[in-house]
Parts: sequence; C-alpha cells; structure tokens
Amino acid sequence: MIGQEIIGRFAALLGPKGVITDPEDIAPWLTDWRGRFHGAAAAILQPSSTQEVAAIVSLAAELRVPLVPQGGNTSMVGGATPPQDGSALILSLRRMNRIRSLSPDDNLAICEAGVILSTLHDAAEEAGRRFPLSLGAKGSATIGGLISTNAGGTQVLRHGTVRALVEGLEAVLPDGSILNGLEALKKDNRGYDLKQLLVGAEGTLGIITAASLRLVPAIAARAVAWVGVASPADALALLRLTEARLGDSVEGFEIIADDGLGHVLSHIPGTRCPIETRTPWHVLIEVDHADLSPPSPEERMEAALAEALAQGIATDAAIAANEAQAATFWRLRESLSEAERAQGPALQFDISVPVARMPAFMIDTAAAAERTFPGTTASSFGHLGDGNVHFHVRAPKGTTDGPAWIAADGKAINAFVHDAVAAAGGSISAEHGIGQMKRAELGRLASPARLHALRAIKAAFDPLGLMNPDKLIPRPEEG
Ligand SMILES: Cc1cc2nc3c(=O)[nH]c(=O)nc-3n(C[C@H](O)[C@H](O)[C@H](O)COP(=O)(O)OP(=O)(O)OC[C@H]3O[C@@H](n4cnc5c(N)ncnc54)[C@H](O)[C@@H]3O)c2cc1C
Repeated sequence: MIGQEIIGRFAALLGPKGVITDPEDIAPWLTDWRGRFHGAAAAILQPSSTQEVAAIVSLAAELRVPLVPQGGNTSMVGGATPPQDGSALILSLRRMNRIRSLSPDDNLAICEAGVILSTLHDAAEEAGRRFPLSLGAKGSATIGGLISTNAGGTQVLRHGTVRALVEGLEAVLPDGSILNGLEALKKDNRGYDLKQLLVGAEGTLGIITAASLRLVPAIAARAVAWVGVASPADALALLRLTEARLGDSVEGFEIIADDGLGHVLSHIPGTRCPIETRTPWHVLIEVDHADLSPPSPEERMEAALAEALAQGIATDAAIAANEAQAATFWRLRESLSEAERAQGPALQFDISVPVARMPAFMIDTAAAAERTFPGTTASSFGHLGDGNVHFHVRAPKGTTDGPAWIAADGKAINAFVHDAVAAAGGSISAEHGIGQMKRAELGRLASPARLHALRAIKAAFDPLGLMNPDKLIPRPEEG
C-alpha cells in the first residue's frame, strides 16, 4: 500500500479537498459496477483543474506511482478498479464537472471530463440542441469515461459512437505535458490523430481533462414503437424495412429477448409489456425529426409497421401515444442490465459480429452454449443495427454462489463464446472496452500484428507504465 509520505506530497499539491484518505469514503470506488473486481487504494486524488491534473501526473512520474483514472465508475469491464495490492492511487475527475461553453451556433459543447452525461443532455436541451449519445448509466457516467471507453449506446445507428462526436480533446500525457486540442477543426492533417488515439484508450495513454463535443438539432417530434417479432432474422428484416421507408430518421433500433423482458417486468417496479401478446423477441424503434413538417414521425412509423405486419415480419406493435409512454418503453430497455443483475449470476458478453451474421449468431450460439454448459440459459439484447448485442449466459437455476460458479465455469464459457465470436469475424468488445476483464482473452485471440501495435503505442506514450496499469494491454504471458 502506498505510504503516508507519498500521499502527503500529493496533498501538498491539491489541498485538503483534493485528497480523500478516509477508508469509508474510498470504499465505494474500489469495486466495479457489477461487483466482480475489488481493488485497494490508499487515496483518491481529486483535482479541480487541468493544471492540477498535470501536476499530479508529473509528481506520479517522479515518484513512480501508478494512477487509475476514474469517472463515474460504471465500467462494465473493471476498467476503473485499482489493483488489489494497493500499489496505485485513484485519480478521480469528478470534481472537474464544468461545462466550459456551449455554443448552439457552433453546435459544440466544451465539457470537462467529470461532467455527467445527463447533465450535458439537460444543458444541450436548454440551448435547443442535444448530445446524441445515451445509455443506461447516463446519470453517473462522465464525459471522460465515455470517451475513454468510446461508448456506444442506443443512437449509434444514426450518430456513431463517441469517436464520431468528439471534435477536440484536452489531455494530460504521461509525462505531465498538456495536449491542447480543444479547437474543433473540420480539417487537420498534422499526421497521427492524437485525439482519436486517446478515444477508447481506457486511461492507458493519458488523462482526458476536457473535450469539444458535437451537438445536433433538438428533436422536434419523435415516434417510439414496441414491436413483437418471432426471431432476430425478422428483427433484421424489420430494420431494413424501416430504414428503407424512414431513411436516417431511424435513430434507435434495439432487440430484446422475451426472457430478458421478463426479468425487467419481475424486478423493476411499475413496468409492463407494451404489447398484449408476449412474442419470443421484441424490438424498440425510435424515429426522430428535427422539424414539424408533415408527415409526422408517428404517421411514417405507422405506415412502416403496417407494412411489416402485412408481410408477417412483425406480429404485434404499439406506438407510444405520448412522451410519457415513450419514456416507459425506453425504461424497459434501459433497465435490462439492472434487471439481469437482480435475476442472478450471469456472464455478460458485449460482442459484435457483421450485422448480417448476427441473427444466426444469436440463435445458434445461445443454443450451443446451453448444450455445452447444461443448466445455463443464454440470450441477448442490444443494438442489432450496429451488429452489437449483449449476450448473457446465466448460471443454472438455484445457483446462489455466483463467484463460485464463475470460478468453476467462467473461463470455459468465456472461451466458448469468444471463440464463436472470432469464428464469426467479430470483436470480443463492441462497446464496453477491455479493462481487466477481457485483457487475457484479447491476448489469446488478437492477431500478433494488433498486439504488437497496441504494446508499441503504449510503450511510446507511457514508458514508465504508470497509466491505468494492467488494463487493456495483455500481459506478456497472455499472448
Ligand atoms: C447500466 C449501464 C449501462 C451501460 N450501457 C452501455 C451502453 O449501452 N453502451 C456503452 O458503450 N456502454 C455502456 N455502459 C458502460 C459505459 O461504457 C460506461 O458506463 C461509461 O462509458 C464509463 O463512464 P464512467 O465515467 O463511469 O467511467 P469509469 O467507469 O470511471 O471509467 C471507465 C474507463 O475509462 C477510464 N477513464 C475514466 N475517466 C477518464 C479520464 N478522464 N481520462 C482517461 N481515462 C479515464 C477509466 O480508467 C476506465 O478505464 C453501461 C454501464 C452501465 C452501468
């Protein structure tokens, strides 16, 4: 564990508000959101400015102290959990939570790393704009964490992942220097795109302190529908039909297995299925217009769904009658992770495969997993249009000791699902990142060229290996 003398050096830089050492205050930040990883740290450093971050990073380099950057600690892969041996300090960006500017004319918001996603949503809305990225953790996840994981969410189909929304970045590099890149240049060919290297780097190449983020026009009218379908293949046919009829106004297209919906209905109070019949699969569709000119999104959605019902692609459908009902439809989708967690132990896989292969992957891999690991149940939900679902393998009914089940079977189930993903030409991390949870599997499955490039970039930026150690980059023995 890092000693008092070293912590005193950081306290001298930051003042009393800038360092937390009370074990009770530190405890909630030592475990990941899913409760799978537990670390130790003698202190949390809480800078309030970019200059303070630079001073911390410089001192950490001088003292050889590893730093674990942390935002809202909602990582799904143990990315923000410090090592167990207490050898690192947590660097929390949560006090850096100012929206420095928001310009409707530039369609830009400049946010510090600790701004919470829903705070940015609210500020953009007040200015008649919106930040088109949303996910279940929006009340806790921060801009720095979202950028560092290149988060996706439910609007990627139309607006892309965070990568497509970051116009500029300010960051502190591992030597303590400040990279000033907040100017949002449409054209900039000064060689390597350092901003994009930091996006998705999971804090391994430096600390993001602020970002210029692209805003889009506010939604003037939207239609949200809940549709019952028989299979993922029908869901994909429905996606292609809605795209053909509604163009790029289709902003959300989420698939949900009926058993996942069942968990939401059982565990999340006040929820109910929007359609009368329970179908094997459900789809949530959102269509957005930035103006009020006719036909309305609701009329266009109605026409497209009537066609889908007539063709037998959809078996039942409901269009939300008002905003409140639209919010209840989305609540079902956004509560899935929480409901699955309440349902019991499960192994979660955030994977992508080419879109056209996804329906077969969802059905075949679930059946094969259940056959290979008797008693388990497997199903998926997520962003079908992006070729990305969250594929879950749940422990046999009656399993009370989740960690013991994972210790016994986790490795084999992991390898089984990831091998299937690799065989389908996919990625073992579509949007959550690698963190510590998938590091060894990345090492096992990535090509030598990819591993060499990852390690070379890490060594070039962070030769002392102090930035979020043991995350993302496989250990030498792992591949
Ligand atoms: C209920 C729920 C639903 C979710 N749904 C989605 C989803 O649909 N799509 C999706 O993509 N993700 C989803 N996520 C995961 C999501 O990626 C993370 O929630 C979010 O991106 C991380 O933000 P955070 O501020 O909590 O970062 P943290 O969890 O604190 O950190 C995440 C990673 O970023 C690093 N980091 C944090 N801040 C900085 C910084 N300023 N500079 C450098 N590195 C930093 C950390 O070291 C860590 O490696 C979900 C999570 C939850 C809990």
